[in-house]
Amino acid sequence: MNAEIICVGTELLLGNIVNTNAAFISERISRLGISCYNQCVVGDNMDRCLAQLKESSSRSEIIILSGGLGPTEDDMTKEAVAKFNRLPLVEDKKSRKAIEEYFAKRKMEPTANNWKQALVPKGAKAVPNANGTAPGIILETKSCTYILLPGPPFELEPMFEKQIMPYLASLQSGVLYSKTVKIVGVGESRAETMIMDMIDAQTNPTIATYAKAGEVHIRVTSYASDKKEAAKLVKPVVKELQHRFGSSIYTTDENVTLERAVMDLLVSESLSLCTVESCTGGLISSRIVSESGASDILKCGFVTYSNESKTELVGVKKSTLDKYGAVSEQTAAEMAKGGAKASKSDVCISVTGIAGPGGGTKAKPVGLVYIGCCVRGKVTVKEFRFSGNRNKIRILSATNALILARECILEYKNKIG
Ligand code: ATP
Ligand code: MG
Repeated sequence: MNAEIICVGTELLLGNIVNTNAAFISERISRLGISCYNQCVVGDNMDRCLAQLKESSSRSEIIILSGGLGPTEDDMTKEAVAKFNRLPLVEDKKSRKAIEEYFAKRKMEPTANNWKQALVPKGAKAVPNANGTAPGIILETKSCTYILLPGPPFELEPMFEKQIMPYLASLQSGVLYSKTVKIVGVGESRAETMIMDMIDAQTNPTIATYAKAGEVHIRVTSYASDKKEAAKLVKPVVKELQHRFGSSIYTTDENVTLERAVMDLLVSESLSLCTVESCTGGLISSRIVSESGASDILKCGFVTYSNESKTELVGVKKSTLDKYGAVSEQTAAEMAKGGAKASKSDVCISVTGIAGPGGGTKAKPVGLVYIGCCVRGKVTVKEFRFSGNRNKIRILSATNALILARECILEYKNKIG
C-alpha cells in the first residue's frame, strides 16, 4: 500500500512553523509497512489544494492531509476534498454533539462558524477528536482513501495513534510487527559493523539502524499473516542483538525513552534522584519530568549556573572552583556529591561544561563537558568533548548524563546483588 502526505497551511510555507506533522505521520506509517513516496505542503488556497489532490490521487492509494479543519475562513481542507470528489458537505450528528459538549464543559458559547466543524463530505466517517473541536475525517472513494486530520500536533498525534493507526492496520492483508532495540554507549558505525552479517542476511525480518543524539536504535520488523507468527520471526533476531550488545541495550520497547529507562531503574532499586545542572540549565530534570511518575523519584533539580550558586546551593568548595575552575572533573564531582547531600537523594547527576559559542579556551574548548553521578556516596565523573552548536552540545550533555546515571545505577545494582 502506498500513501502520501499533504500538509495544508500558509504558515508552513512561510517557515513560521516547522512541519512536525509530516515527520510524525511518516514515521508512524512506516511502522505499519505503508510506503510513503511523496510529501508536500500547500498554502490555504482552494485552487492549489485541488490541483494537489488531482496529482496525489493519480498516484497514491492513501492521501493523508493535515491542517485546515478549523472553523475559520482560511480553513478549507475538507471543502477542497469534498469539491474534488463532487460530494456535498453534510452534518455529522455525533460531531455536532461533541462540539456542543466541548463548549458546555468550558462554559463557553460556540460561534456560528464552530458548527462548520461538524460537516463532513457525504459518505465519510468522522473521527472523534479528544483534544479539540474538529473531528478527523476518513473518506473512502473508489480510487483512494482520504484521511483528514486537524493541524495542531496535540490533537493530531493522539488521534493518529489511537484511531488512524488501527484503521490503517486493518487495511493491510498481513501484519507487521516490530521491536526496537535501543542502544547507548556504542556509536552508529560501530553498531552497524557489529551486525553487518545480520544486515547482509536479512529478508524477513528486516533490520534497520537509526542514529539518534547519543543513541543508536535498531528496528527489527517482520511481516506475517498474524501477530503471533510475526512476533515469532522477530524474537530470535532480538535475542541475537541482546547477545551482541548486552547491557548497552536499555530497552526493546519502541515507546520507552532513555529517561523512562533510567526512571524505571531508579524505581526498581528504590532510589531517589536529584540533578545539579550548569550548561544544560534544567534540560535533564525537564526530560525526567516529561515522563509520568517523575514525582516518585525526582526530589530536586538545581540549576547552578554561577560559581556562587554552586557553592551556596550544593556546597562546591570555593577553593575547588579557584584551583580547577567551574568546568572541571573536581567541580562536577563536588556538584554530584553536594547535590545528593543537599536534597537527601540517593542518586545525583551533575553537569558542568562549555556549550559555546563563546567562553572556550585552548585548554578548555567549547564542547568540553564533565558529567558526574553520585550513587549512595560513590562518585563517578566522565569527561566529554562534544562538537556542534550550543543546542547540540546541551542535548548531548543531557543524553550522556542519563547514560552515565544508568551505568552507575546498574553498577550499584550488580554490587549489592
Ligand atoms: P485550528 O482549529 O486550530 O485552526 P486546523 O486543523 O485548522 O486547526 P491549521 O489552522 O492548519 O489547523 O493549523 C493550526 C495550528 O496547528 C498551526 O498554527 C500550527 O501551530 C499547528 N500545525 C498545523 N500544521 C502543522 C504541521 N504540519 N506541523 C506542525 N504543526 C502544525
Ligand atoms: Mg485553522
